[in-house]
Amino acid sequence: MADSDECLFCGIIAGTIPSERVYEDDMVYAFKDINPKAKVHVLIVPRKHYRDVAALAKNDPALLAHIVETAQGIADKAFHGAYRLIFNTGRDAGQSVFHVHAHVLTGETMDE
Ligand code: 5GP
Ligand code: ZN
Repeated sequence: MADSDECLFCGIIAGTIPSERVYEDDMVYAFKDINPKAKVHVLIVPRKHYRDVAALAKNDPALLAHIVETAQGIADKAFHGAYRLIFNTGRDAGQSVFHVHAHVLTGETMDE
């Protein structure tokens, strides 16, 4: 069985699990985090399943760059281009969904 068969974010990308879409194109899908940690908290996921950002960087660095570009576009609209970009990597660092996702936190001034 492939990793993606029981993956929550593959289900969201496929539309079998509902989500609030923010942006999509042929490479990525972006949607609101269900438990927001900032005024604007968006998750960006590549349509192709990689377990974490290290696997993505190794196998498809252009796709990782596109995720950063997508985050910039979201923050340009939400908060004059300022944002925090987080990739939790590994269970002990807080990764709970093993389909790589960028957390984009923006929309308000944040503490250091
Ligand atoms: P992680 O902890 O893996 O870095 O991030 C997973 C994120 O996914 C969490 O911030 C969590 O709130 C969010 N999340 C978990 N399940 C769902 C869901 O069904 N829908 C949405 N929109 N977000 C989810
Ligand atoms: Zn997946």
